[in-house]
Amino acid sequence: MLPFGTIDEASAFLGRNLTFAETIWFNYSARKSDYFLYCHNILFLFIIFSVVPLPLVFLEMKRFAALEKYKIQPKVHFSLSDMFRCYKDVMRMFFLVVGPLQLVSYPSIKMIGIRSGLPLPSVWEIVAQLVVYFIIEDYTNYWVHRFLHGKWGYEKIHCVHHEYTAPIGFAAPYAHWAEVLILGIPSFLGPAIVPGHMITFWLWIALRQIEAIETHSGYDFPWTPTKYLPFYGGADYHDYHHYVGGQSQSNFASVFTYCDYIYGTDKGYRYQKKILRKLKEEMKNGGVQNGGSNPFLSQDLKSD
Ligand SMILES: [Zn+2]
Ligand SMILES: [Zn+2]
Repeated sequence: MLPFGTIDEASAFLGRNLTFAETIWFNYSARKSDYFLYCHNILFLFIIFSVVPLPLVFLEMKRFAALEKYKIQPKVHFSLSDMFRCYKDVMRMFFLVVGPLQLVSYPSIKMIGIRSGLPLPSVWEIVAQLVVYFIIEDYTNYWVHRFLHGKWGYEKIHCVHHEYTAPIGFAAPYAHWAEVLILGIPSFLGPAIVPGHMITFWLWIALRQIEAIETHSGYDFPWTPTKYLPFYGGADYHDYHHYVGGQSQSNFASVFTYCDYIYGTDKGYRYQKKILRKLKEEMKNGGVQNGGSNPFLSQDLKSD
């Protein structure tokens, strides 16, 4: 809730006219409590979990020949009821854990200093903070995820997320309730260290989940804008982590690739890429007829 009754009062406080974006924000938020604004995240997450994976469901059902070559594990297919079952499980977790967590975590948001007032942050301030949030989340998530691949963490908690050895968009938030809670910490750390505006916080929560859906999409499209982000892992990178499964000691990072490189946990992935490159060259020279039974091999050879 803003401490101004009118736009004129807000202008007098700022010592200038409100920008277009600030006027919209004033009209929208002036009479709404900060708690209510914070709880918008519940609606945003519901929409993201429900809508963003839908184009991927469509692709999986239609199996367009022109796009199938970008499927990372082309031999694995899901029926509509398989995908709907995953969505139903995610929604159950959403209403039992994710939503209530948002409802009760408001005091922590107040404590770290997320603000909802005027002036609004500049676009550059928002972008800079989001970059920091992604870096902090990636680093912290790397270690939490690595811990979850220990015997206890995997058997008790993380095995649920790995039920999908070939991930699909709906499976991005598919996890044990304890994992949902534990991985909330890396997401929270960035805003706690560099607190920003409520709008930045909304964007952070939304973008992080959209990014997770992309990395679980099962498709590695060459035109994806994230391909231009330095050190970005992407779908192929995380798909390998799921493909290897429970024994996976590779590709732990959630967003970027540098943690796995620094700590030497991308060796299996890089070795596989090297072998694939070699096989492709041999294929060009007529030495290999097919990619064998490895779905990764067959995909990469096919998409050559
Ligand atoms: Zn894992
Ligand atoms: Zn995953």
